[in-house]
Amino acid sequence: MAEKLKVAICWLGACGGCDASIVDLNEVILQVADAVDIVLWPLAMDFKYRSIQQMPDAEIALSILSGSIRNSDHQEMAELLRKKSQVVMAMGACACFGGTPGLANFHSKDDIFNWVYRDAPTVVNPDGNFPQPETVRNGGKLTLPHFFEHVFTLDQAIDVDYYLPGCPPPPELIVNAINAVLAGDLPPKGSTLAPRKALCDTCPRNQRKPNRMEIRSFNRIHEVEADPDACFLAAGIICMGPATRNGCGETCIRINVPCRGCFGPLPGVVGSEPKFLSTLASLLVVERDDEIKEAIDSFDDPVGYLYRFTQPSSILGRRSAKKVTEEGS
Ligand code: SF4
Ligand code: SF4
Repeated sequence: MAEKLKVAICWLGACGGCDASIVDLNEVILQVADAVDIVLWPLAMDFKYRSIQQMPDAEIALSILSGSIRNSDHQEMAELLRKKSQVVMAMGACACFGGTPGLANFHSKDDIFNWVYRDAPTVVNPDGNFPQPETVRNGGKLTLPHFFEHVFTLDQAIDVDYYLPGCPPPPELIVNAINAVLAGDLPPKGSTLAPRKALCDTCPRNQRKPNRMEIRSFNRIHEVEADPDACFLAAGIICMGPATRNGCGETCIRINVPCRGCFGPLPGVVGSEPKFLSTLASLLVVERDDEIKEAIDSFDDPVGYLYRFTQPSSILGRRSAKKVTEEGS
């Protein structure tokens, strides 16, 4: 009998939601598990990293990595799986664009440590101890991963073959991607395994988008009663649909929540955040200074909104892979 293809699934700087989305394949996961030999999946099975280290290079057919690169442990694991794998797929917004952990790039490493280990109201740390990469106690050495100065995308640390966006990606896209890799039926390296249009193109609310939108100020979703069939943007509610790739199945839109952008930018677009901002600006109908100020003030937390999933991959946040190592200490 032919040997089954080996597959590794691993989370790096992740919340575990992407792995949970694989579990959400339900009975399909049994077919996948039957068709392949899963050699690593910390969420579900007990494997030892050393068995991966001992494998010949390129022994694993597919490694699916979720999560961003925040510390040296993530980087080492990503490098190891890259070396041992023929194909590496970045799964989820964190691996593809940096994801919500990437918002930490608006703060320095010192800011984060000071808040988490000293200043947060619930912290009790009278001696001011901070985690150290190495601690010697009673002749023994304890080590922790190095916490990097920045959050990085997976492809800022290693070479990535395919991308599967979403927070998390929907199970249907995951199974399509796995099947495509296993069948060798793949688009060119570097492709995103998701549709290429904007979310607005498939959004059921698009039909009720007025031809000419006129926004005077922005509303937060809890401040208005959003019409469940009308376009959010037309009601002044920020919806990232015009600047976001579709393929999510409009999951949020269908429960009356605007798009937050977890599928990332459209193909070929770098810097979708400023583009979306200029789209918003073109829809604003304000002339006087006080009207302009009121409109700007009504957009609460624009940076958090626009960069919620993409800061590390954006023009603002992009870093070279080399920097991962240089800044690793
Ligand atoms: S993409 Fe979303 S679900 Fe996946 S690890 Fe990141 S935060 Fe969690
Ligand atoms: S802006 Fe949002 S609500 Fe309006 S059509 Fe696009 S995705 Fe749908």
